[in-house]
Amino acid sequence: MEITFWGVRGSYPVPGPATVRYGGQTSCVEVRAKSGAGVIIDAGTGLRALGQKLAREGHVAPRRYSILLSHVHWDHIQGLPFFEPAYVQDTVIDVYALLTAADELQQVIGGITRHEFFPIPLEAAPADFQFHEVDPGVAMTLGEFRVVPMALNHPFGAVGYRIEADGTSVAYVSDTAPFTEVLHKQHFLSGLELLTDDDRAALTQMKADLVAALRGCDTVIYDTHYVPDEYARFPHYGHSTPDHALELLAGNDVRRLILYHHAPSHDDDQMDQIAAEYRAKGAEVGIDVITACEGMVLTVGAVKGVAA
Ligand SMILES: [Zn+2]
Ligand SMILES: [Zn+2]
Repeated sequence: MEITFWGVRGSYPVPGPATVRYGGQTSCVEVRAKSGAGVIIDAGTGLRALGQKLAREGHVAPRRYSILLSHVHWDHIQGLPFFEPAYVQDTVIDVYALLTAADELQQVIGGITRHEFFPIPLEAAPADFQFHEVDPGVAMTLGEFRVVPMALNHPFGAVGYRIEADGTSVAYVSDTAPFTEVLHKQHFLSGLELLTDDDRAALTQMKADLVAALRGCDTVIYDTHYVPDEYARFPHYGHSTPDHALELLAGNDVRRLILYHHAPSHDDDQMDQIAAEYRAKGAEVGIDVITACEGMVLTVGAVKGVAA
């Protein structure tokens, strides 16, 4: 498999002179198998450039694209109305996400193209959008990809995805807070309240399930939005630090960690410092740490097999 990072930023896009090297577009990763088949993870503003590339490639019908959404916060869906294949006849776009019903997902995604916000409503786009609800822990087969959604600790809920193909595996874990002092339930931020025993049990279970689902994964892309002092100030915002990611992955037979969903306030110089610091910390626990930058292409696999 090959993964391409089209957007690596969290929260909102920050293109400009301070982010030239790491990039300013929001969350979007393309996964390709050796056969050329692909899936897209998240539809942040990075999706626009990916859509242009796919539209150039996609002259052979039928055109069908799968987009796996971690959740529907702006930085993960804002590129969708600008996805060029949506405006090509005989195109099907399958959107997968965690919501209580496929209808509700359609309303949410359709809502961002209401006439007040955007000139072309979703229903009028030439492509056929099909919406699918995912269930954490329940594997799906998308062509040659086996995809396992994983529950994450984020306001209103989010899912990560473990994707297996070509005898190897990559996981996308964004957005998530760590699994200790804050529990984000579906409809409110309970982190602003004291945790109950049930909350603690739910967090413990969520973390154990995630660790099990990531075991033996070759490459893990993880929400490492904050450095530790920022996390200490904003523990309720639903994001992690690279230390949280390393703590979760160490000893779990994971070869490589990709730092991802960078805070918009981190300029290129600070990103260089973070990259160097955590490359060294990763080496201490036997994990190769790479910091995602826009346009980066990585080959997955050849070291670890697919977990049984
Ligand atoms: Zn985000
Ligand atoms: Zn989010």
